[in-house]
Amino acid sequence: MKWIGLELKGLLTIAVATIRDDGTLVKANAGFLRLINMEGEQPAGKRVAPFFIQPDFALLASMEADTEGRIYNGLLTLGDYMTQARTLRTRIWRVNSELHLLAEYDIEELERLYDTVLALNRDYADAQFRLAQTNLKLQQREAEILTLSLTDQLTGVGNRRQLEQVLPVEISRAERTGEKFCVLMADLDHFKKVNDTWGHDTGDEVLIRFGKLLRQQTRVTDTAIRFGGEEFIILMPHTPLEQATAIAERIRGAMGSCQLEVLRDPITVSIGVAELAAGQQGTEFLRRADTALYKAKASGRNRIMVG
Ligand code: GH3
Ligand code: MG
Ligand code: MG
Repeated sequence: MKWIGLELKGLLTIAVATIRDDGTLVKANAGFLRLINMEGEQPAGKRVAPFFIQPDFALLASMEADTEGRIYNGLLTLGDYMTQARTLRTRIWRVNSELHLLAEYDIEELERLYDTVLALNRDYADAQFRLAQTNLKLQQREAEILTLSLTDQLTGVGNRRQLEQVLPVEISRAERTGEKFCVLMADLDHFKKVNDTWGHDTGDEVLIRFGKLLRQQTRVTDTAIRFGGEEFIILMPHTPLEQATAIAERIRGAMGSCQLEVLRDPITVSIGVAELAAGQQGTEFLRRADTALYKAKASGRNRIMVG
């Protein structure tokens, strides 16, 4: 049975000790020495009686042995001000003038701890999941707000802020790549008359309709902007003048033949077209389209002019 003693010596979950009646150690394994904060020390002769908190060592030593020599079978609390007191299930036998102590760490307590750790881990994972979801919602909300801030509320096309963002980017891209870049400036004809004759709400309906038409008639790479009341800009990157003019003509035709329920006659649109010249700034580029639009108005409306 000697090997059992050797094996026990290093175990930490079981505490084994032989203690003299006077409260000094004869021998003890690692599990016991750890309880009294003397791990790694030589146990022989160490006084351990003061570590017996409940029951008191003197009380234990004076207990009567049962027929099997056992003097104690119950919970024992060990520790001192240096060590954390621990309560272990303990058995103690008397062999002559020595007490043989065998104690085990409370497995149930360990299991409870383990369960608590598992529950905490689960809560932590749940919290992280909820946090990730909240972050995702926030990101989506942020993207929505950004889109909203660049959108004209009435017509759903871009607003001036979007123009300010897109125009310089597209100009520098065109300069870098050498690709053609065109702009259309469109203004509804006699729009004031629509408001005056049919009311402001009908005017709004027409604007909504024109915004929708622009979105349908342009490509994803184009940007339609509501520049002012009934004036719209369409940025057309990598588009040569002939193509831009053709698209402008398509828009004019579509609007001119669009029978609106709210109006007796279709409403027409005049459009100025300009192609970006080398080294040209955004304002000058737009001004050329605006001049062309003015010419289209001056020469009878419902037409395209190139600036
Ligand atoms: P032209 O052919 O020369 O462009 O004539 P027009 O009547 O279209 O131009 P004008 O600039 O004289 O009138 C523009 C009108 O657009 C006046 C203004 O009340 C109206 N308007 C501007 N913004 C809105 C809007 O958001 N809703 C409505 N219903 N009308 C608007
Ligand atoms: Mg107008
Ligand atoms: Mg106008």
